[in-house]
Amino acid sequence: MNPKTLEPLFNYDHMDRKNGRSNGLTGQDILSVDQFDVDTLDYIFTRSCEMREMVRRVGSTDLLRGNVLTALFYEPSTRTSSSFIAAMERLGGNVIPITQGVQYSSVSKGETLADTVRTLEQYSDVIVLRHPEIGSAKAAADNATIPVINAGDGAGEHPTQALLDLFTIRDELGRLDGLQIAMIGDLRYGRTVHSLTKLLLHYDVSLRFVSPEILRLPLTLMNEVIDAGIDVRETHDVADVIEKADVLYVTRVQKERFSDLAQYEEVKDAHAITPEVMKRAKEDMIVIHPLPRVGEIHYSVDKDPRAAYFRQVQNGMFVRMALLAAVLGKA
Ligand code: ASP
Repeated sequence: MNPKTLEPLFNYDHMDRKNGRSNGLTGQDILSVDQFDVDTLDYIFTRSCEMREMVRRVGSTDLLRGNVLTALFYEPSTRTSSSFIAAMERLGGNVIPITQGVQYSSVSKGETLADTVRTLEQYSDVIVLRHPEIGSAKAAADNATIPVINAGDGAGEHPTQALLDLFTIRDELGRLDGLQIAMIGDLRYGRTVHSLTKLLLHYDVSLRFVSPEILRLPLTLMNEVIDAGIDVRETHDVADVIEKADVLYVTRVQKERFSDLAQYEEVKDAHAITPEVMKRAKEDMIVIHPLPRVGEIHYSVDKDPRAAYFRQVQNGMFVRMALLAAVLGKA
């Protein structure tokens, strides 16, 4: 509906630049966090704050009236799908939701991802895609003339989750530079860990990676961290990081990525954040989690004011509103 190759009727990107609010995101696919620099991140976070203000004051706006988003989810999702839908609706746009039942679409008849995307772009202005294969969002984008947003490609990346994670850290603690961030859990298959780690390389942070041996951060990513000159350490034990961490980024062991379920059973309960553990943490730290949790943060931690994971959930909607507005050229 809004081909990447056509000149837009109004050049919103240009208007942004004139107003000093350039974003460079108009008409772009969002496939990996590699495409964000610090200016773009600042732009998205400023717009996210504006979206939050707007929602708190009036609930919704008609900025994206007349625009249609297709939510195409080949893997389960609660927060990503519903926050994209809520974001689009609060901006006055509409949604084609293929989030509960790809099995009821022509995918079950053997239709390829390319053909599905080529079809859905006839009806919509942006496609949000979750798919179990690494690189699927890129493959979809190569076949689409409208922007494709990667909502998780297997164990690859989850760029919009990383944006909301980073936004949450900055919003809760007021800064990013100088923080010590501990990532805990499944660092191997956790796509949110991969995306957030790469975004954090733009800042003066120290990183601590806590995981069982078989779930360590992939070597290529660890090399990127080292090449960026970041202060980094790996350990198997939360006790080694709890006292100094400003952020605990806790993650679920990704059962669905294991070919050997016995191996999953061995590591699934490797870490647990309990009130006892929290007693040793700083007063002004936060605990966040991309969710869902399956035991790695005890429910009794929820009443601790440092437990920020449900505030993080709400931020997801504001950040996705900002991103959709930018991609669809409505600054
Ligand atoms: N919801 C996040 C994801 O889709 C985290 C998780 O599933 O553990 O990657």
